[in-house]
Amino acid sequence: MVFSYFNKLSISQKRIYRKSDEIHALPLPDAETLRPLIGHLASALELEDRDQTEGICRTLVGGMAVRLGVPPLRIKVLAVRPSAKWGELHGLYELAEGKASAVITLWMRTAKHRRVVAFRAFLRTLLHEFCHHVDYHLYRLPDSFHTEGFYKRESSLFHQLLPMREPNSSVVS
Ligand SMILES: [Zn+2]
Repeated sequence: MVFSYFNKLSISQKRIYRKSDEIHALPLPDAETLRPLIGHLASALELEDRDQTEGICRTLVGGMAVRLGVPPLRIKVLAVRPSAKWGELHGLYELAEGKASAVITLWMRTAKHRRVVAFRAFLRTLLHEFCHHVDYHLYRLPDSFHTEGFYKRESSLFHQLLPMREPNSSVVS
């Protein structure tokens, strides 16, 4: 299955899309050694401690980057999500492009209710943005598309870090 925007892509973009769609899992070596961070992240977010949340995200992403052999990247955790008519921005991945490293930006609070973002959704967003980094640097794809394969890799990473069963898993757009 391909998403509807596939038809609007150029031939070379379709090739990238298909490559991305073919990879269904992202095995993370020694994932269990990063698991203790997940609990700390949940508490920091619950306490609305921005500095601590940012620090733990940085350690987690740094650990994943080393394990996968991709370049390190910067993490910024900000307060309230930017919003516009199209909705709210959950996370953002920016390529290095001349800067020292790529940057992931995350927001702790929803724009609508100014509530702290649910932990699982927050972690999913972090992993989602990290998967864009993996597309460029591990798979060496010239572009990073939201394909079914992409979402499967995001889920695969999520379940390696949080291996409990979850009856109602939240989905990041
Ligand atoms: Zn994305």
